[in-house]
Amino acid sequence: MSESALETEIRRLIRMAGPMPVAQYMALCLSHPVHGYYSNRDPLGAAGDFTTAPEVSQMFGELLGVWAAAVWQLMGSPASVRLVELGPGRGTMMRDALRAAKVMPDFRAAISLHLVEVSVVLQRRQRETLGEIDMPAHWHAALDEVPDGPAIVLANEFFDALPVHQMVKQEDGWHERVVGLAPDDKLIFGLAPDPVPHFDSLVEPRVRAAPVGAIYEWRPESLGLGLARRVVRGNGAALVIDYGHLESSPGDTLQAIGSHAFADPLATPGEIDLTAHVDFQALARSADSMEARVHGPISQGDFLRRLGIEERATALKGNATEQQARDIDSALARLTGGGSAGMGELFKVMAFSHPDLRQLPGFHT
Ligand code: SAH
Repeated sequence: MSESALETEIRRLIRMAGPMPVAQYMALCLSHPVHGYYSNRDPLGAAGDFTTAPEVSQMFGELLGVWAAAVWQLMGSPASVRLVELGPGRGTMMRDALRAAKVMPDFRAAISLHLVEVSVVLQRRQRETLGEIDMPAHWHAALDEVPDGPAIVLANEFFDALPVHQMVKQEDGWHERVVGLAPDDKLIFGLAPDPVPHFDSLVEPRVRAAPVGAIYEWRPESLGLGLARRVVRGNGAALVIDYGHLESSPGDTLQAIGSHAFADPLATPGEIDLTAHVDFQALARSADSMEARVHGPISQGDFLRRLGIEERATALKGNATEQQARDIDSALARLTGGGSAGMGELFKVMAFSHPDLRQLPGFHT
């Protein structure tokens, strides 16, 4: 297989500066401004590399639209609210959410829309999907660019795409896992020569007890902290939906996907998707440290059922052909079901909010 343009660039960087942390490799692969995976393609859908919940069924975005409207009411129905989405993909979820929110005209009238998207290709796609929307809409490359104020933030399959550091436990401490060059010039995984001082004292006891050779993944906290600060200072809530684990624990979850199949993370950098599980405990810790109220995490299946996905499916089937009714049933099973084919158990939902928002829709027990 021929070398990708990004591979040439990565080799050059390694020759110049030495092996790079996995997190830096992942950041280059996904969002290098010219050759990054997200910079130059639309990876979603059946013809792309992967499919996400909003692409499975309109029900997903509709329920999140109703969720956002209910949260806005709990916030005291502010006259102006920023509806923010992180990594909106094709814009499908937001389109469905805004359509469903038409039942609450006062909410819709209060919205200014903020879409946070690094990819120019996907920004264009989002503008097409949303069409001529009847509300102010702004695109940003980062959350920091969204002005302060009351906000409802939605993020589906966004955090898994953020660069992850991998640490490997050795006798003398935790070493950063790096990407370097083998004698034959192929990209290979390796370890930084020195352990990171005191890393052991920063991790949960469960992680500290891991055997030599174990891998532990962590992401910089800045985005979680930024989101929490925003909802605490400006009032509001953020909803994070992603695959991941409930508790910080050791494990190598870095995975590469191309054309709906697993691939080698070091092969064809920039041309395959790289993701790693989200550590919901770490995210909750960040939110907690900013004094945000944490809701969940709970499974996606439970969350969607509590928001009424089964009733919504029944209503849609009332006007459907037989084939459409079968499609609605299979989408419902995919979104809420367990097992390897379903997203209902693997995906988790967590929210954080202003401390006065004691209970958010979908999280009551
Ligand atoms: N939420 C969508 C798309 C998920 S794919 C859905 O559920 O279908 C991940 C999305 O995050 C893409 O839109 C990608 O371009 C965007 N993205 C990835 N890293 C980003 C970053 N650092 N900042 C902003 N957007 C990013």
